Amino acid sequence: MAEPILELRNVSAHYGNIQALKGISLKAFPGEVVTIIGGNGAGKSTTLMTICNVIKASGGDVLYEGRSILNLASAKLAPMGLCQVPEGRRIFPRLTVEENLEMGAFFRKDKAGISRDMEHIFELFPVLRERRRQPGGTLSGGEQQMLAIGRALMGRPKLLLLDEPSLGLAPLIVQRIFRIVEDINKQQGTSIMLVEQNANVALRMASRGYVLETGKVVMEGEAAALLDNPAIRAAYLGE
Ligand code: ATP
Repeated sequence: MAEPILELRNVSAHYGNIQALKGISLKAFPGEVVTIIGGNGAGKSTTLMTICNVIKASGGDVLYEGRSILNLASAKLAPMGLCQVPEGRRIFPRLTVEENLEMGAFFRKDKAGISRDMEHIFELFPVLRERRRQPGGTLSGGEQQMLAIGRALMGRPKLLLLDEPSLGLAPLIVQRIFRIVEDINKQQGTSIMLVEQNANVALRMASRGYVLETGKVVMEGEAAALLDNPAIRAAYLGE
């Protein structure tokens, strides 16, 4: 198998005295969709925030393309191709859709490439083109999620970290967003690490999955096998 694009080795993280991650090890390979599923408070968001150094790991190592990124500032990661779409989207509500997208390309100088990529994002999400001059804060939840993904894509990521893109959205919108994420993976070869409480959609889209419980990886494997696993079905698929 190829070298992983991202590897977590025995990563721990604390909030004060609370240990949120208790030695997490996982890998993402180039071109794959890998998912991290788990219930409320399992440590999924903390895992992504630790990868991006928003939260400092208290132990272990995070390697991106074979090199430790633990001591790099978050802002250094997007130019290296590691972009995160945080939970709750965090778009800039007062900036227009277009300006939000431009922010995702803050480190790029290739004007022609930037406008080509914006055009491509408008093709993926036509509703963003319609609303390009509208403040981001006036968009619906689903549109804001599309904008957040679009903004991350403006950084031309090699690896896209997606935190609960389905949160609070109607099933039809979730389906649409997941289809587009799948296209991004297939057409552009972008690797995707998808954190989801919605285990059903996540495991259908991913090739491999990790199950987190109270800060530990309790199960990992092929997504299809996890989907068929009775314990997973009972705990996470509502059966
Ligand atoms: P959810 O899907 O509910 O966001 P999650 O799997 O993403 O859950 P985390 O948000 O990573 O879980 O939380 C992991 C643990 O860390 C939980 O026990 C949570 O209560 C705790 N935690 C998260 N953020 C903080 C914080 N800012 N201060 C203290 N504890 C926190």
